[in-house]
Amino acid sequence: MSEEIPRLPDEHLDRAREIVAEKRTRQKCKSCYDRGYIGTNQNNLLVPCAKCTDVDGVMEAWRGYVAETPALKELYGDYFEEEEEGTDESQQ
Ligand SMILES: [Zn+2]
Repeated sequence: MSEEIPRLPDEHLDRAREIVAEKRTRQKCKSCYDRGYIGTNQNNLLVPCAKCTDVDGVMEAWRGYVAETPALKELYGDYFEEEEEGTDESQQ
């Protein structure tokens, strides 16, 4: 049941780090050595530090970046897109 998530191309990691840096809520943090992220996961996606960054804000900014970057949109289109069909009004 595991969904295949493509590995993030390395060239986008810089932008990911910038996004994390922009969303930091504290300057000093021992958990992540002031980097704002813990590391990368198996998909090469940055794992933001929950102690000193606004993780929701990071995800939101990241989704925005994916949406405006065609190469990433192609890779992750469905995965990061906000759910569009939230309502149950499908009656005809
Ligand atoms: Zn931290």
